[in-house]
Amino acid sequence: MPLMQPPETVVEITRVLEAAGYEAWCVGGGVRDALLGIPNLDWDLTTSARPLQVRKLFKRTVPVGIEFGTIGVLDETNVMHEVTTFRSDVETDGRHAVVKFGESLEEDLARRDFTINAIAYSPSRDELRDPFGGQRDLAERVLRAVGIAKERMREDRLRALRAIRFASRFGFTVDPATWQAILVSAPHLGRLSPERVQQEIVKTMNQVALPSTAFRMWRDSGAFGELVPGLAGITDVELLALDHLRLPQLARRPQRLQLRLAGLFSAARPGTVHAMLKALRFSNADAAWVGGLVERWHEMGRGMKNELMHPEAPTDSVLRSWAGQAGRTQLASLLRIADAHWWAERERGRPAPSRERVESVYRRAIRIAYRDPVEISDLAVNGDDLHGIGITGKQLGQTLRALLQYVLEDPSRNTPDVLLSRARGDA
Ligand code: ATP
Ligand code: MG
Repeated sequence: MPLMQPPETVVEITRVLEAAGYEAWCVGGGVRDALLGIPNLDWDLTTSARPLQVRKLFKRTVPVGIEFGTIGVLDETNVMHEVTTFRSDVETDGRHAVVKFGESLEEDLARRDFTINAIAYSPSRDELRDPFGGQRDLAERVLRAVGIAKERMREDRLRALRAIRFASRFGFTVDPATWQAILVSAPHLGRLSPERVQQEIVKTMNQVALPSTAFRMWRDSGAFGELVPGLAGITDVELLALDHLRLPQLARRPQRLQLRLAGLFSAARPGTVHAMLKALRFSNADAAWVGGLVERWHEMGRGMKNELMHPEAPTDSVLRSWAGQAGRTQLASLLRIADAHWWAERERGRPAPSRERVESVYRRAIRIAYRDPVEISDLAVNGDDLHGIGITGKQLGQTLRALLQYVLEDPSRNTPDVLLSRARGDA
């Protein structure tokens, strides 16, 4: 058995490069994850061939990062594999390295960020090159910078956030010198672009099973203070809630991401979240969805909790009013956020609604939200109907809201006759 088996398409790329007289090695996440026994389809390659030579050797290539020496090679199934020429960075400004092509694999591995990411594998030789003890650190479950941690993080401040992400993703401890370097880096993180910071938050949400471990380090290192000050005071219970957020099993990734973002940003003060997300360059759609959900949580969380702590189950009318206030389509997400927070509170020995109560109310509330009239657009009358009986201007909106309230109490009232006569009486 070979030490590891990269996908055949990747092995084929190394064969082509070697047949042309160049060195070719698998590096980075693919090798690391193979050693951990975790599947990873994304295998990067490093080679002694220069970018133009790589382009000549393969039929279909993409100049993904040609200025950094990276060429994308497309295989028959249109999957792209990144082939990067050996590099040795010479100068940096804290993020962007001035790239110089290197002469050897060892030089290339030395400029990589962490020991576990600096292991190379050659399929033709069935040989690992691991000059910085990456395999030992994998076995000991330690995340450690290659070389002198403070210097490596001064070269590129993004490494501080990457360190936190990799450590929490694999459940590794951070080597003390590497942690010290993260602390020293924190005050300088402001030089990272908001897009980069957003990308790190998104990758963390997508890759880390227990996000509290990552964001606790963002808090404790001072990274939040520098990058997302509104989250600098996130509490341990609020962090823990992130781990308990039950993500919809079948939902697409963007929905899971949005829900996790709402979980994280529910720790920020009311009225601040939309602007924070825009500052991090999240899309208008994400900022609106996440911001809206967090505001609903702030408005409704306490009342929902009181209602569920009560020995008697909430009435249908209460659940309809929740659906009306949250919006039918947001209600499930709001209840998931609530469930996560209450779970975390119970775990810390604080009073919060029981698991069983939350589960049964969740099922009932969703059923009711899609069965009963809960929004103004569900009413049996609309603005034109009210106009027809002489209700206009500001009064029109008020009347619609009053009618909704009337219907939330008893959905059988939702007929044109009942509502129009009620509206006449009110007006
Ligand atoms: P993932 O599974 O998340 O893709 P990865 O280790 O492949 O993990 P990438 O961001 O794809 O991470 O980078 C590929 C490799 O490039 C890393 O393993 C590391 O060796 C190197 N690398 C990436 N970013 C940096 C950086 N900022 N500084 C130094 N080396 C880096
Ligand atoms: Mg990768």
